[in-house]
Amino acid sequence: MASSRSGSLVSADVRRHNLALVAALVEAGVVRESEEPGTAPRENAPRGRPLTLLRLAADDVALLVLQLDADQATAVLTAVDGRALFRASEHHGRPMGDPERVLDVLARVLARSLDAAAGLGRRVADLTVVVFAPIGGTPPVVVVDTDFEWGVVDVLTGLRQRVPAMPPAALASDGTVAALAERAELADAGEGVRDLVYAKSNSGIGGAVVADGALIPGAHGFAGAFGHLAVDPRGARCLCGQRGCLVTVAGPDVVLAAAGLTAEVAERGLTDALRELVARIRAGEPRATAAWEAALPWIAHALRLVTMTVDPEVVVLGGAYALLADHLTPALDKALREATIAPDAGGCTVLASTLPDTATPLGAAAQALTPLTQGRLPAR
Ligand SMILES: [Zn+2]
Repeated sequence: MASSRSGSLVSADVRRHNLALVAALVEAGVVRESEEPGTAPRENAPRGRPLTLLRLAADDVALLVLQLDADQATAVLTAVDGRALFRASEHHGRPMGDPERVLDVLARVLARSLDAAAGLGRRVADLTVVVFAPIGGTPPVVVVDTDFEWGVVDVLTGLRQRVPAMPPAALASDGTVAALAERAELADAGEGVRDLVYAKSNSGIGGAVVADGALIPGAHGFAGAFGHLAVDPRGARCLCGQRGCLVTVAGPDVVLAAAGLTAEVAERGLTDALRELVARIRAGEPRATAAWEAALPWIAHALRLVTMTVDPEVVVLGGAYALLADHLTPALDKALREATIAPDAGGCTVLASTLPDTATPLGAAAQALTPLTQGRLPAR
C-alpha cells in the first residue's frame, strides 16, 4: 500500500534530494562551504555527521539574460537576488534573411556582458537567450522567425562559434517566458490560475499554453506558436511552409503596412512603429483603424481555435494586444460566446496584461533562476 511508506523513508528521500541539490550548488559555485565558526544549534545536528555550513556565494556569481527582438540585442546581467549589475544593448538594423549579421550583433552584446561580469569578479552561472520566435528541437533552435525572414537558425551554436567562452546556455521563446511572468503576476494578485492561454504581439505573434499549472512545451518545443496557426487556407505562403498563417494576415508588419507605417518601421524600428500604430488606432485615425479592423477577426478566430482546443480559464493578451485590449477583448468575447457547447460559455475570462512591455524580461529572469532552484546547474 502506498500509504504504508514510512515517514523515515520519506525524510531519507528528502535528505538524499537535498544532498544532491547542495552538491550541484557547490559544484556550480552558487553556495560554498563556510569557514566561519558554526552558529547553527549543534544539538539539532544528526549525530555522527559532520555539520557543514553553507553560504550563498552570491558575490561571485551572476545570471545573464540575452534578448533578441526585431530591433535590438539586449543583455541584462543580474545578481542571484535579481539586482541588475550591467545592461547593454545594440541595434542590429533588422537585416532581413541574414542571420549571420544579427548573430554578430548578439555575440558582441554577449561578449561585452561576459567582460562586464569578469570585471565585477563574477562568473555567469546561467545564460538564457530569449528569441521572439518559436523554437524547437534538441538542442533547441529557432524554427522560423518572420521578423527576420529566417527559417531554421541555430542561435546557440552561432553564438558559441563567435564567443567560445560562452557559458552553458538555454534558448527560450519570448511567449513562453512571458507566460510564466503573467502566471506569477496573476498568482501575486490572488488569482491562482492553472489553465491559461497567453497571446501576444510585439513582433510577430506568439504565446504559450499553461495547462493544470504547467507550461506545455510540446513534443518539439514549439507549442504556443499561435502566429503560425494556418487560418486562411487560400492565403499567402508563410516562411514556415504553410499557407495563410495568422502572422501573414494579421502580423504586425502586415497591419503596419496596411496602416501606411512601413516607412516608420524602416526609420524607427518595429517597436516604435507598433507604438505609433497603437496610438493611431486609439485616436481613431482612419487608415490605422481600418488596418486593425481587418486583422481583428483573424486574431479573434485564431484565439477561438486555441481556446476551443485547450479550454483555458483565462486568456491573457500581451504586448500590443494588451494596449489594444479595448478592441480585442469584445471581439474575442463575442467569438467565444458563439461556442454554446460549454456549460458556461462566458467562463473564459479575457484579460489585458498588466506587463505589456516587461513580461518577457521578467519571465526570462525568473527562468534564469530555475536551474538554481532545481539543482540543474552548469559545472564550473
Ligand atoms: Zn507560418
